[in-house]
Amino acid sequence: MATSAQIQASSRGTPGRWLRWVLAWLPRGRSLSEDVWRVRHRTLLWLLRAHVLGVLLFGLIVGRGLAESLEGAGIVAVFAVLASTDPHRRRFVSGMTAVGLVTSSAVLVGLSGGVIEMHFHFFVMVGILTLYQDWLPFLCAIGFVVLHHGVLGTLDPTAVYDHSDAINNPFKWALIHGGFVLAASAASVVAWRLNEEQAFRDALTRLPNRALFQDRVEHALARAGRHPVALAVLFVDLDGFKGVNDSLGHGAGDELLRVVAERLRACVRPADTVARLGGDEFAILLEDITAQEDATRVAQRIIDAVAVPFHIGGHDTTVTASVGVAFNRSDDTVDELLRNADVAMYAVKDSGRARYKLFAVEMHSAVVSRVELEHQIRVACDLEQFAVLYQPIISLETGRLAGLEALVRWQHPTRGLLAPADFIDVAVKTGAIVPIGRWVLDTACQRARQWHDRHPSVPFTISVNLSPVQVFQTDMVETVRGALDRWGLAPDGLVLELTEEVMIKDADTAARRLEELKELGVQLAIDDFGTGYSSLNYLRHLPVGILKIDKSFVDGLTAGPTESAFGKLIIDFAHTLGLRTVAEGVEQLEQAVALRRLGCHLAQGYLFAKPLAATDVDAFIDATGPEQIWTFAESPDPAIHHRL
Ligand code: C2E
Ligand code: MG
Ligand code: MG
Repeated sequence: MATSAQIQASSRGTPGRWLRWVLAWLPRGRSLSEDVWRVRHRTLLWLLRAHVLGVLLFGLIVGRGLAESLEGAGIVAVFAVLASTDPHRRRFVSGMTAVGLVTSSAVLVGLSGGVIEMHFHFFVMVGILTLYQDWLPFLCAIGFVVLHHGVLGTLDPTAVYDHSDAINNPFKWALIHGGFVLAASAASVVAWRLNEEQAFRDALTRLPNRALFQDRVEHALARAGRHPVALAVLFVDLDGFKGVNDSLGHGAGDELLRVVAERLRACVRPADTVARLGGDEFAILLEDITAQEDATRVAQRIIDAVAVPFHIGGHDTTVTASVGVAFNRSDDTVDELLRNADVAMYAVKDSGRARYKLFAVEMHSAVVSRVELEHQIRVACDLEQFAVLYQPIISLETGRLAGLEALVRWQHPTRGLLAPADFIDVAVKTGAIVPIGRWVLDTACQRARQWHDRHPSVPFTISVNLSPVQVFQTDMVETVRGALDRWGLAPDGLVLELTEEVMIKDADTAARRLEELKELGVQLAIDDFGTGYSSLNYLRHLPVGILKIDKSFVDGLTAGPTESAFGKLIIDFAHTLGLRTVAEGVEQLEQAVALRRLGCHLAQGYLFAKPLAATDVDAFIDATGPEQIWTFAESPDPAIHHRL
């Protein structure tokens, strides 16, 4: 396959280039939607019908007699009848309307005896016919003018003209009139073209929009016939675009989309179509390909081109592209082909982004089940299918219960009890996490109230996880305050756990929101610390008091000197910043011992307890709250004592 650079080079400076330029400026045609087309057709049809009467009256007024006037009107009436047939046959009825209207011009010229002013009727009709925004009726009219002026005008000049110069120089006058017709229709053609531009171009990037793209794919499919892998559709979605929009502003987002559009255009041949479907979604149609590699090469080129950093509004920023590729199969419709590319793109998003995937039939069923899951999550809230488990957090200093972390579960009607990993991502994507999270917060606060009442001598905190979407809700602080007030909890008894992701999305808003929460008096913790991609710098500016050390570092503590170095580093780092530390996923006693030695304050994990049902928490508090249950003696013989 020739590259776009080769093709551009070969056509540079040739007449072909000019021709291409002119062709590019002409309207494409066939662009009106059905309802708009119907209205315009009806109007033109009435104009044609009015001409039947108009021609008759005109003939009588200029004294042509009833027979001749009726004959002229009758010819126009034949076209009016044909044009009034089934409007579903768009091309036929619009062609008949066109020929009917210019026939009425010819009849009027004839009845007037070739009076020059009557020729203006032609100019007006040809212009009016551009309302169809379709080449067929327009060319029918132009063809008619050529026949009438050019052929009839030279063979029998008196039938067309009434003055001697035209009768003596019919060629000259045919050319003059032809020129007038073209000039008179030029303005209409430009308006037609601009109309098309507006309806079929994306205003920001000037790329074709979804409607034009679908039209192009439809034509390409018709051309490809039953020949498979003759064309490919690529769906391109930017990863991280929202982050740019949120952090640098919408102006920068727009600029980035414009640059992406240019880069995409540079990745394909001039004959291929690059369209913007909306937001950060683009689509590309590759025609006349001979092998799958033709499309995969373009897909890779796109990924590489988008990955080059952007310099926008004084900032360097990067986004990546996820690309889904689908080829035409023999019986594909436009919608199926586009959907397949979309499905393949979704599959890329699910499996790590910034690469391409070819559509496979199995992907479709995965997407269908995903859509089903989205629906089920939405109704699960109303059906009260969610439950909260509570995992104890133990003080490594005292060996006693120090807190409980609320962890959501979904009692799925057919799949049983689901862990967050099975549904949180989808809930975040659909926004369902907001009501779910609100419910978890309220339920956890309610339970905490009950347990405090039943065990007044045992101090413990209650931790609730928040996903970034929740943090960015404008009523976030009110929601937290509401839950605390409703259940009469002291704010510092509530710990809100956030991941580093919250800082990546929109650091300024996040910082402001966390500051407000801090003012409320609640404690803030960074969850899964060390697994995000964010810079550590943010910790200096955030009112966070607790770091939760991810399980992977806890596992490393007993795995060898290199692995254990990370855990030590994080604990030291937290101490330096004056933060409390909670070790997550502690499964072995040796880990707890090592953590305590390193000065880690709290720990949570299967070693102490798995997440418990609310009904089992009372027994756990009774057994662990009032006195020391665990001792983490140093070697040689670390021991654990508990009486559960
Ligand atoms: P997380 O907040 O880091 O919670 C700790 C996860 O580690 C829990 O998984 C817990 O069951 C598991 N875990 C605790 N100790 C051990 C251990 O010793 N070994 C192992 N292998 N795992 C242990 P879970 O309940 O599946 O929750 C997973 C994640 O889902 C949570 O990670 C949290 O990020 C998220 N999540 C849970 N509940 C909610 C919620 O209500 N809202 C939001 N937004 N996210 C939630
Ligand atoms: Mg957590
Ligand atoms: Mg965690």
